[in-house]
Amino acid sequence: MEKKGSLVKIETICRSCSGTGIFRSFLEENGVGIVCRDCNGDGKNILEYVPFTGRRRRSDIDVVYAERLILFSDRENLHPISYDAFFNGEKPINHHQ
Ligand SMILES: [Zn+2]
Repeated sequence: MEKKGSLVKIETICRSCSGTGIFRSFLEENGVGIVCRDCNGDGKNILEYVPFTGRRRRSDIDVVYAERLILFSDRENLHPISYDAFFNGEKPINHHQ
C-alpha cells in the first residue's frame, strides 16, 4: 500500500479584497463597501492541498514516451523507456527538441 499525503487546509488572505472582506469598485460611492464575494466578507480563503510525498506509481503503464504519438511513424523516431526506468528517475529523450 502506497503512502499518500493527507489533505492540509490553511487559511490564506483573500486576494480579491486583500484580506479586508470588502469589495469596492469605481461604481460604489465614497465610503460604501460591498461584501467580498470571493470570501463572503471573511477576508480569508481556505486553501486545501495534498503535500507531495513522492511520485505515485500507476499500474496501467508499460512504456513512456517524451511526447504524444501523433503519427504512427512517430513510434520509430521517438524512443520510449520502460515505465520502471521512468519511475526510477529516467526521462525519455525528446528528439524534437
Ligand atoms: Zn475577499
